[in-house]
Amino acid sequence: MNNPLPPPLFPSEIAGAEFFQRVRDTAFKGTQVYEESFQCVCNKALDFLEAWEDARVDRSKLSAVILDIDGTVLDDRKSTRIGDQKLMSAHLPMRHVYNKILEDGHVVFFVSSRYRKWETATKQTLGLHGFSTYERLCLFPDEWPRNAYLIWAWKDEMREAIAKEYHILACIGDQQCDVAGSNIGERQFKLPEPPAYDC
Ligand SMILES: [Mg+2]
Repeated sequence: MNNPLPPPLFPSEIAGAEFFQRVRDTAFKGTQVYEESFQCVCNKALDFLEAWEDARVDRSKLSAVILDIDGTVLDDRKSTRIGDQKLMSAHLPMRHVYNKILEDGHVVFFVSSRYRKWETATKQTLGLHGFSTYERLCLFPDEWPRNAYLIWAWKDEMREAIAKEYHILACIGDQQCDVAGSNIGERQFKLPEPPAYDC
């Protein structure tokens, strides 16, 4: 071979251990920023619920808040061991929001892109973390391929169906498709997306 390729260099050989320490520090700071931003959005949601006054002329529809599940009420990053089961942890600031929604007499809809085949496990996890009162748990059809466009279209469709029977007060989620589109209610609360850990 006339021009053999040079042996591959590993990133640590190029950047050195100091660089990797900096990456780890930044990732840690990233989680702190994430927790703080998460709390901040939840505080805003609590303030909104506290200040909300029903100024609707037609009050025949119940008011509803639509919540996403993963990265919203459940923490994608952590799991808890309960007995011999490993379960995703809950986002505690969101539990306060959830409790406030119910205390104020609104109803909750969970709209999640988890597949329907996970319905039983999802109900169990939600129940174990205190999210057991909701009007409906809407899960993504098993036969649909999982892509961002379809998830967006399906979430829109779910909200449209909910809006026929309920007044959508707010939508809360960590993805853009949870808080943008049609029938997104009076206010939207976009939570930060969980930081990546594998750096
Ligand atoms: Mg999510």
